[in-house]
This record gives sequence, C-alpha cells and structure tokens, in this order.
Amino acid sequence: MTLRLHNTLTGTDQIFESQTPNLVRLYTCGPTVYDYLHVGNWFGYIAWDVLVRVLIANEYEVERVLNITDVGHLVSDGDEGQDKLEKGAKREGKTAWDIADFYSQDFLKGVDRLGLVQPQHIVKATDYIPQQIELVRTLKNKGYTYQIDDGIYFDTSKFPSYADFAHLDLKALQAGARVEFNPEKRNHSDFALWKFTPESEKRDMEWETPDDILEYRSEKIEDSESSNKKNPSGEQPVMGFPGWHLECSAMAMSILGETLDIHTGGIDHIPVHHTNEIAQSEAATGKTFSKFWLHNNHLKVDGTKISKSLDNGYTLDDLAKKGYSPDDFRMFALQTHYRTEGNFTFDNLTSAKNRLHNWRNIAALRHQTHDTLRDDDDKCTDDKSVSLYATAQAVLAALNEDLNTPAALAIVDDAFSRLTHTRLDDIHQHAFVQLLETVDELLGLRLVANSPDVSDDIKMFIIKRQQARERQDWQTSDDLRKEIEKSGITVRDTAHGPIWEYLD
Ligand code: AMP
Ligand code: ZN
Repeated sequence: MTLRLHNTLTGTDQIFESQTPNLVRLYTCGPTVYDYLHVGNWFGYIAWDVLVRVLIANEYEVERVLNITDVGHLVSDGDEGQDKLEKGAKREGKTAWDIADFYSQDFLKGVDRLGLVQPQHIVKATDYIPQQIELVRTLKNKGYTYQIDDGIYFDTSKFPSYADFAHLDLKALQAGARVEFNPEKRNHSDFALWKFTPESEKRDMEWETPDDILEYRSEKIEDSESSNKKNPSGEQPVMGFPGWHLECSAMAMSILGETLDIHTGGIDHIPVHHTNEIAQSEAATGKTFSKFWLHNNHLKVDGTKISKSLDNGYTLDDLAKKGYSPDDFRMFALQTHYRTEGNFTFDNLTSAKNRLHNWRNIAALRHQTHDTLRDDDDKCTDDKSVSLYATAQAVLAALNEDLNTPAALAIVDDAFSRLTHTRLDDIHQHAFVQLLETVDELLGLRLVANSPDVSDDIKMFIIKRQQARERQDWQTSDDLRKEIEKSGITVRDTAHGPIWEYLD
C-alpha cells in the first residue's frame, strides 16, 4: 500500500519513502517540562502515535527519538526572557532540576496512560550538553557564529535558504522588530546557540563554556562569573546554557544520523524552532536535515487559544476527575484530522466517550456468538467475513492518506453498524477479532483489552432470565436483571435474543 504524508517542506502530500528500506528514523519535538501537559500538547502526541502505528503497519521498523526539553526554552520562544524551567522552579520554590524531574515523570506517566507507543529513545537536553557544544564548535569553525554580550549566535544571513521553510519575509520581520530586540544581533532572525548566564541571574542549570567556542572574554562575562572555579588556564570559567533549538539538532543527529526521514512537531514550531533547527543542522553538515516535516495543528478549548491566564489547559488528571478516561480523550483527538484546528469542549469529549462506549459493546459481541470454530470456518467464504477483512484494509488505506483518522473512524462505525444488524451467529468470529486487533494496532483504542467477557455466573443469570421471560415470569426476569446490573452489565433484548452490554 502507498503511504502519503503532507510534507511541510514541499507543501504537498507526498508518497513516503524512507532512505533505508523498511527503516524510518523519526524525531519528535517533546515537551518543555516546566508544567503539566495540557490537552493541546497531548493532541499532537496522539497524532504522532498514529503516525508510528501506521508506519509499523506499512512494515517499517521505526527508530524514534523524542526529546524532553529541560533547559533553554525561554518564555518568548526566542532569545529573550527567562528560561521556562528556571521560572517554574521559582514558582514552586524548587530547583530547576527538581521541576524537570517531576514534570518529566508526569509526562512519561501520561504516555503510559494514553497507551502511546514508547519511542526507543526518550532523551533529555541536559544529558546532551557535550553534543550541543560540539555542534556550536562545528558551526563556529565553519564561520556561522558570532559572539555578543549575552551569548553565541547563529548568523542567519550566512545561510541563504533560511527563510524558505516557513516562507518568511525577513525584511518585514526586521522592520517590525520589537523594541526589546537585542541591538547587538546582526539580523533580527539570528538566534542564540549558547547563552551566557546573565549577570543578574543565579541559574540552577549552567555549564562551563569551553574556551575554544568563545571569541573573546568580555568584561561583562568576567563580571558575571558566579563560580569560584578556575579552568586549566587559571581563568574563571564562563558559565552558560544551550539555546532551545540547539538541543533538537544535536540529539537528533547524534542518535539518528545527519538526515532524518521524518521530523514532527506543532505548527507553532514552523517559523522559529524548526526553521532554526534546519539552519544550524544543514549549515553544520551540508546535508538535508529531514526529508519529511509533519506538523500538527493546534487544539483550542471552547474556541479559544489555550493559555495560562485563562486556565483552560486541561490536563489528563482534570479529565479523570470529571470521569473521562485517557482512551475517551484519544477517541476525541482521533475525531479531528491532525492538520485541522481542533476544538476541545466537554460536549465533544462526551460524544467521543459515548462513541467509544458503543465500540466496546460491539467488541464484546465476539464473546456472544454461540458457534464453534468449525461453524466459523464454514462462514469463511461468506460475504460477512469478506467484508470484515476488507474493513481492516480500508481503515489502513484511510490512514495511509495523510493519517486521515476521521475517515478511519467512519469506516469502523459503518462496519460496526452493519454488525449490530447481523444475527450474532452470522458474525464471522475470526474476521471480527482480526478487525478489532487491526483497529487497536492502528488507533490504540484498546478495544480488545477493554471488552472482557462476563463471568460464568453472569452468563448463567442471563440464560435463567431468558428462560423466565419465555415463561412470562416477569418478576424473576426483573430480579435477575438487577442481579446482573450489580456487575456493571445490562441486557438488551433483541429479535435474535438477549445481548449483554457494559453499563459504563
Ligand atoms: P512545549 O511544551 O511548549 O514545548 O510544547 C510541546 C508540543 O505541544 C509542541 O510540539 C507544541 O507545538 C505542541 N502544542 C502546544 N500547544 C498546543 C495546542 N494548543 N495544540 C496542539 N499542540 C500544541
Ligand atoms: Zn524541537
């Protein structure tokens, strides 16, 4: 089957091919761990989870890096303002290291709760400082960097295709530059590779700047030294920390190689973060940094941008407190195509929850066919099994069109609705189970795991209740229904006999 993905690099849907047959080198920009992740962040990670699942279904082995930004991401997303981690530390009266550790653990718990396929490499920026310094060194040796008072910068005018990726109008950006734009920078779009610890700030996270990446030691730098340590030449070290963009290039290239197959992130990353990643990586290697770039659109909440001031960035815990499971949220996320702007409302989440509940009840029908395996074999050639097998193929085909999850869900809905109109004994069990497994593999909704069979006692009660109904003993039938409902199961009477379902 052909897999087509929308590539931001070319602005078109392109047939995906990896550089090495059957192997995909994939990098995903991870969270900045200074707070809990909100539904918008998770919306993106669910999209990239579907991407991984679809690649695997297309018989690729996926080697994936997901980074954890635990240093260097400033509140402005650019080079001004406080480091988000250091700010979070002050807010909570802890160190930046503690903050990073706490919210990283919470992120990993969320990955688990949502059943996201685990990336092979989940890496922290602070564990890759030497690789980031090495990249600055390479760029300096190639003449792409310059030093100013507060750090070492990438000179974007030396990378002629800088504006291409995001179709930036650099002249207009320069003209509209804000007043606080650092006048020492040569161009508005230049960005910090390495920042020096500011005079006024006591940072928890800082590292020695190797002398060979410095062009000079300014008086300001000398003044700012908070450490009493001396380096081998007897001078106090210049303390600093990496710029946010640097970490992704350094980690991606040191683990996956100089050219990735796919790089993913949110659309907000296109004009700055990813543009800068491309500039610094390609300037260093002379090679294409990533063949494909995929970007998820943003999720709004009640039609509004998610923001701290509105306190509308719901977390997975917020949803749990209101009775919604991570799978309910996953179903909600899948209902919007990843490149479409999403809108989170509790009404939308409730309808996703109901849809998933309905799907679980349909998945439970597999326990309720009364036939033997032999009967099942005899049904192999009939239309029903053929159409169930075809449904599994159609779901993958929909996802192969730029991860069209809403279309995939509609195909499953259609097949499930046909099943509810089928006599239980006419359902081809093997084909049905295979469809459920395919849906789980591709969409991660855990239908099989979350639709267990009922106990033998319940089965017995259901039979007895049916017998009571047949002899019109309504009292016994009602009593048995109540007994059954104590186990969270209800019974629906159909023209073909009773069908049990989960109450919630
Ligand atoms: P951050 O923690 O800010 O580095 O963001 C982590 C990821 O979430 C990035 O890929 C962002 O682009 C993405 N993101 C942030 N806000 C939203 C949103 N409202 N909807 C979807 N993705 C988002
Ligand atoms: Zn990144």
